[in-house]
Amino acid sequence: MDEVTGAQLVAEALKSQNVEYMFGIVGVPIIEVAMAAQAAGIKYVGMRNEQAACYAASAIGYLTGRPAVCLVVSGPGLIHALGGMANANMNCWPVIVIGGSSDRNQETTGAFQEFPQVEACRLYSKFSARPSSLEMIPAVVEKAVRSSIYGRPGASYIDIAGDMVNAKIDRANVRFVSCCPAPPVSQADSREITQAVRLLRAAQRPLIIIGKGAAYARAEKEVRELVEVTGIPFLPTPMGKGILPDDHPNCVAAARSRALLQADVIVLLGARLNWILHFGFPPRFSPHVKIIQVDLCAEELSNNVRAASALLGDIGAVVRQLLETVRSWRFPSDSQWWLTLKEKMTANAQISKSLALRSTLPMNYYTAFHHISELLPKDCIIVSEGANTMDIGRTMLLNYLPRHRLDAGTFGTMGVGPGFAIAAAVLEQTQKSAQRVVCIEGDSAFGFSGMEVETMCRYKLPIIIIVINNNGIYSGVDPKTWKEMEKMGDMTTIAPPVTLLPEARYEQVMSAFGGRGYLVRTVEELRSALQESLNNTQMNLGLLDYPYII
Ligand code: ADP
Repeated sequence: MDEVTGAQLVAEALKSQNVEYMFGIVGVPIIEVAMAAQAAGIKYVGMRNEQAACYAASAIGYLTGRPAVCLVVSGPGLIHALGGMANANMNCWPVIVIGGSSDRNQETTGAFQEFPQVEACRLYSKFSARPSSLEMIPAVVEKAVRSSIYGRPGASYIDIAGDMVNAKIDRANVRFVSCCPAPPVSQADSREITQAVRLLRAAQRPLIIIGKGAAYARAEKEVRELVEVTGIPFLPTPMGKGILPDDHPNCVAAARSRALLQADVIVLLGARLNWILHFGFPPRFSPHVKIIQVDLCAEELSNNVRAASALLGDIGAVVRQLLETVRSWRFPSDSQWWLTLKEKMTANAQISKSLALRSTLPMNYYTAFHHISELLPKDCIIVSEGANTMDIGRTMLLNYLPRHRLDAGTFGTMGVGPGFAIAAAVLEQTQKSAQRVVCIEGDSAFGFSGMEVETMCRYKLPIIIIVINNNGIYSGVDPKTWKEMEKMGDMTTIAPPVTLLPEARYEQVMSAFGGRGYLVRTVEELRSALQESLNNTQMNLGLLDYPYII
């Protein structure tokens, strides 16, 4: 008899579904699952909080198109991971969460860390189930992986009862399932394509919006061809940045508000009309705008604004259909639309340049980002979170390659940065690529998952973290005011809720674990510390920046 344990079955099933990475925190009852995964050739990254582990696993899903696993213990472990699951599901990113749970014969008795996990995960996932027996583990793993990548991508949950982990079964009795094929690709209805091209040809002020769905779809070649053949201006969403380079001549990000407001026909490629795009509503959009919407999720079509042309299908395939129909039609580059957009872009560029060149101390965001962007290599992966840090960073830090920007995303989740950076760096390490991962954090955002710096140092991941410290959430108070407040009495009644400890030495978190930490206040210090960090590719690096932003 060739016996196999439940843990081995989980690991082998994942491997046979081409799952390559697992992030998690082990404990009873899933230690053996992590060990079996490593034995099966899956890379295991032990993290410090399940939430960050889930962020990391979901970033692998977005960056590779194949889900990674977040492995957690029962009860609290699983509950911590729910934040990451929700974030992945909202972002439409695939991830597989595997939770250990109580032994089946202890269910409903108040067992250690007992919780209704399958039910709890239903709200945060596309698929949530427990294999009914050891025989069924490979089939459930295959369904979880398939559900996470077919249709609109998202999260799947697999519950493994504690007593199943070490239980054994004869291999001959297991229902093995081969690797699920890549997701099927569908095209739009040809009548809708004709209608879309008719709308485009009649447009006076056309605009293409490129969202992170196009990045996930790996449609950069097709989208570039559409932009360059038609000559239409384009606007990326935050994570749509880099599908075409931010310095592409058709990119009108510097005139975003005007482009959104005045466009009469918008081609929406893998972006939802949610808060990120002001719902497509006036006063940010014209009430008469016609939307040509491309999405693989039928339920998404016509959300908030009725689509004038609803193109249901894969972005790459649908854009190819558009290109075949649009043929050599080209929007004139000397049109009034281009003139008005260019005029606005020039004016806005002047404003941010003058802010960037101010030599105030502490530095302002624009100055810090201006110098950071001058030094960053074009192929680096930028992870960005924090309120002001992310918003201003989005406009100042350019992306040149697809899937090279990771941020708080659709759910606006803070604390994602370190997990995302770890995932990106682990991928870079596996691919032996020299691309740098630079994680630019607000001080408040950094606090949510700051202990993951230990994870970065433990695995020697070449990540640079820049903390833009303004002493609080949105912004805190300066050290002098803080000291005066301390003299006045009970800080719980005085300290503004937005404040964090002024002059906190975040760079010492990095040095505590053996990385390098720098405290910088001036432009010169910032440039020298960043350059030094970029030059050093051998060790894990930490640049913790303290420009004290006003
Ligand atoms: P952004 O945050 O950039 O605005 P969203 O996450 O709101 O982007 O939207 C992404 C959209 O892309 C989702 O509606 C999702 O269904 C869609 N999408 C994902 N992959 C594909 C694909 N391969 N083809 C078409 N649409 C896709």
